[in-house]
Amino acid sequence: MSYDLAVIGSGGAAFSAAIAARRKNKTVVMIDRGMIGGTCVNTGCVPSKALLAAAEARHIAGYHPFPGIRTDAGPVDFRALVTGKRALVEQMRADKYIDLAAHHGWEICRGVARFAAGPSLEVSRPDGGSQRIEAEHYVIATGSAPVTPLIPGLAEAGYLTSTSAMELDELPDSLIVLGSGYVGLELAQLFARLGTQVTVVEILPRLAPPEEPETSRVIEDVFVDEGIQVRTRVIVTSVHRAEGIMFAELLHPDGNPEQLRAQHVLVATGRRPVTDDLNLAAMGVKTGDLGEVLVDPQLRTHHPRIWAAGDVTGHPQFVYVAGAHGTLIADNAFDNAGRTLDYGHLPRVTFTSPQIASVGLTEEQATQRDLGCKCRVLALNYLPRALVNRDTRGLVKIVAQHATGRVLGVSLVAPNAGDAILAAVYAVKHGMTVDQMAETWAPYLTVGEGLRLAAQTFTRDIALLSCCAS
Ligand SMILES: Cc1cc2nc3c(=O)[nH]c(=O)nc-3n(C[C@H](O)[C@H](O)[C@H](O)COP(=O)(O)OP(=O)(O)OC[C@H]3O[C@@H](n4cnc5c(N)ncnc54)[C@H](O)[C@@H]3O)c2cc1C
Repeated sequence: MSYDLAVIGSGGAAFSAAIAARRKNKTVVMIDRGMIGGTCVNTGCVPSKALLAAAEARHIAGYHPFPGIRTDAGPVDFRALVTGKRALVEQMRADKYIDLAAHHGWEICRGVARFAAGPSLEVSRPDGGSQRIEAEHYVIATGSAPVTPLIPGLAEAGYLTSTSAMELDELPDSLIVLGSGYVGLELAQLFARLGTQVTVVEILPRLAPPEEPETSRVIEDVFVDEGIQVRTRVIVTSVHRAEGIMFAELLHPDGNPEQLRAQHVLVATGRRPVTDDLNLAAMGVKTGDLGEVLVDPQLRTHHPRIWAAGDVTGHPQFVYVAGAHGTLIADNAFDNAGRTLDYGHLPRVTFTSPQIASVGLTEEQATQRDLGCKCRVLALNYLPRALVNRDTRGLVKIVAQHATGRVLGVSLVAPNAGDAILAAVYAVKHGMTVDQMAETWAPYLTVGEGLRLAAQTFTRDIALLSCCAS
């Protein structure tokens, strides 16, 4: 069969490419070897946030700070929680993906796709048969998969990934989480708040390594307060399992060894692009050092009719990036639009509590680029919303250009920071200055007000957590 567009994958990138192509009246076929909807709805964003919301409800029931209110956090029926999560995922997969494909009218073909001469696609179906598909344009939207760190004994001992951890039958009594990127942090707090004894192990000097150091300090304090053990700057030299217990041998920077034990080890050390068996080299499609499909700014690969979108391209792994990629490819492939994306104001959110949200440059990045920056950090105990919430763990940090006052980057650690960061996204995108931010209305008793207060500290004498200028 011949189509205008053939998309490999059915995640966020694939769906947005297909919808955009159908809106241009193009014929589309989508091929997936796994569950329709890809990572976000099935094993990523949706299940993790659903379980995090449940874990937060339990945490607040046990530990809220309000006088006169009595609540109690009882034991967790993890099986029921996971069953409820599955039902939600199934519903959202049907509503947001399967029904949408039917509504827009494209064909979904189940099987493993591989490029063949033409180019064309050879699809190996689950029934053992195969099918050849030809199209004017192809989109590789095959996503990413967890990286397995090369730790002696780990593969033999067996380990959890974010996917299998959220499908366990029973709540583990203890868990070692390797890695403190956003997936590691979210899952660590999720399990800890359900009652698991969690230890987070990070090879770098601090948690949440890509974020501001002040952010890392807050989140480490929060974790320690909540009983999560944290080991940073350590190397895991080996892992083994004995009598159902996992042992992880650590090496500290001072040369001291330490042994951790837990029921499970969860690996959250990053995700790698999925390109295995796609036969890309034969098509002239090149991949980079991390296996990412190399694309130009318009997302075209080295083959003029093959494009790539989402996690597989090595761009930031967020579903909103994947979605934007898909639409852009349809415009570029069919309308020759020559569109590109600006990632300079891309927000990043970690859904811990408090949430970590940031946009633009960190202080270190601005310094490395010689932008001449000045920064202010406002502790949340200066934010009325945090005071009435009786939870002042968090901060607002603004990185601004010294010469112009232009806002280069913002980090928020606060409840609902993921929502409040949107104002900072607008500020960074449209080149606002800290003065303009300080003069812009902000509603009282919101987290968003923190942005205005932090901007005011550039010109007013407000006591700060810390202050720096370079
Ligand atoms: C635990 C977790 C939590 C996350 N939380 C968030 C969040 O809160 N917010 C956010 O923005 N992002 C989040 N993400 C990231 C987000 O899920 C991904 O960035 C996004 O889903 C990537 O979409 P994609 O379309 O590139 O690939 P995917 O959704 O991974 O889709 C790839 C598809 O390709 C299929 N495939 C692969 N190879 C072949 C082949 N040869 N033939 C046929 N089919 C093939 C796979 O079966 C899969 O369905 C999270 C990720 C994880 C793991």
